Amino acid sequence: MKFNDIDFDTYFKNYPDANGFYGKYGGAYISDELKKAMEEITEAYFTICKSSKFIGDLRKIRKEFQGRPTPISYLERLSNSIGHVQLYVKREDLNHSGAHKLNHCMGEALLAKYMGKKKVIAETGAGQHGVALATAAAYFGLECDIYMGAVDIKKQAPNVARMKILGANVIEVTHGLATLKEAVDAAFTAYSKEYKDCIYCIGSVLGPHPFPMMVRDFQSVVGVEARDQFTKMTGELPDAVVACVGGGSNAMGIFSGFLNDPVDLYGVEPLGRGPALGDHAASLKYGTEGIMHGFNSIMLKDENGEPAPVYSVASGLDYPSSGPEHAFLHDIGRVKYDVVDDKETIDAFFTLSRMEGIIPAIESSHAVAYGIKLAKQIGRGSILICLSGRGDKDMDYIIEKYGIR
Ligand SMILES: *Cc1c(COP(=O)(O)O)cnc(C)c1O
Repeated sequence: MKFNDIDFDTYFKNYPDANGFYGKYGGAYISDELKKAMEEITEAYFTICKSSKFIGDLRKIRKEFQGRPTPISYLERLSNSIGHVQLYVKREDLNHSGAHKLNHCMGEALLAKYMGKKKVIAETGAGQHGVALATAAAYFGLECDIYMGAVDIKKQAPNVARMKILGANVIEVTHGLATLKEAVDAAFTAYSKEYKDCIYCIGSVLGPHPFPMMVRDFQSVVGVEARDQFTKMTGELPDAVVACVGGGSNAMGIFSGFLNDPVDLYGVEPLGRGPALGDHAASLKYGTEGIMHGFNSIMLKDENGEPAPVYSVASGLDYPSSGPEHAFLHDIGRVKYDVVDDKETIDAFFTLSRMEGIIPAIESSHAVAYGIKLAKQIGRGSILICLSGRGDKDMDYIIEKYGIR
């Protein structure tokens, strides 16, 4: 299929290019030292991802450890309550450890193992990526260092406990504001000293090349399964696919199954409290081109051109940029990006829980909210929503902030 002069039959061969670019976005804007480390990872990845042993191992892990394939569920009561649109969800909430993140963490840790590394390191904000990586590290018997801001450690006590139970070292970062940004800096500094023995596992389709590509490839299992399952269930393709976008890994995962199909794709960003800078994390809607954390993309900037402070009710979505491939798909118009605010999100959280018996993660509730809005708009057809994770982690927050409605 051709779209805006881009040939999607050969898309995955051509994007990214050899230097990790999707059009003008992506690349690797890092020190020479780290460039060497990234080149080593790229080379290993290109060798390994063609090896039948690696593919076989990953397939076995997906089935026997992660519990894949995850099902697609038809939302019968919710669909009937809206009218003539059929709503479906891809159940990444049923993936082991409760979200899609394990899809790329198992891939990254398997790669580390194949490369003969002893350790994986990463930063974490809300702790979801840290927990998924600690899970993968325990499975493979790798050491695991997770850098986390002191402020986040206080806020995310249950996830800190989970990481420690899984055997990870949670390293407290106390400088600056002691949150995600400082944790990223600390983890990168540690990595540039230790890269011979470890790999840095990035938590979304972000960072320098090859991570946006690698994480997309590891997440593409979501889209491959979903396309096959959906066509078997209904005899046709969905009219639209909807996913929430923080860094954009669950969205790239499910979109990659449908990029070459006549299916409308929607990425949903958090509008938070509203459109003023600092009140949301809708980088593709309100941001401009810029480089941060080693890659060129569309980002939210403050008056000094630095990454702006962001806010979202879903801590997994509050990042001031998005993956470079999303910036590219945004510019060529293949994916439409739109926003929902906190209120619409929390309403959708309760609606899905009460009508379908599925408690979604607050991140995923953004996609559900948009799916419901879109259903009312299009009036007929079918919509597949990526339910990126389950809401157990959000219980305390919801009860404290919103009560039980
Ligand atoms: C981390 C997280 C997200 C956001 O990450 P993406 O890379 O944008 O997918 C979304 N949903 C859940 C449940 C998460 O834990």
